[in-house]
Amino acid sequence: MTEKKCAYCAMMIPNEANICPHCRKPQGVSLGVKFFLGVLFIIVVAYTLNIISKENKARSVGSMRGASVAIPSREMPSDEQIYREFERCMNNAMAHAKAGRTLDARDASVICMSSLDKFGKEQWKKAVDLYFSTH
Ligand SMILES: [Zn+2]
Repeated sequence: MTEKKCAYCAMMIPNEANICPHCRKPQGVSLGVKFFLGVLFIIVVAYTLNIISKENKARSVGSMRGASVAIPSREMPSDEQIYREFERCMNNAMAHAKAGRTLDARDASVICMSSLDKFGKEQWKKAVDLYFSTH
């Protein structure tokens, strides 16, 4: 096929014609625009690939850090946070006890205290004392 239809006046014009000889309207997307879109597409793809590889790199660096440093440098939880965790554990345990399980308050507190061991004894003792002074 060596002819195409003009998009504006519907006359048959040569395939290669950039401008319709009948109505003088430019035909289709010009080579310049095609080139520009092509370059834009390549930039977008390259940019996307760059982001993906950076993310992968960050992930592998992160896992390497995790391997060399056993404990993540996290802020110590406040007394309030430890108390909340203990209270949540106790509430949970007591709910089980109420449901007819054998757990009593003392058993529950032992279990919950051991779950707070990760905070250090001095830290969780304060929380436990506070809990039992209010319950
Ligand atoms: Zn035309």
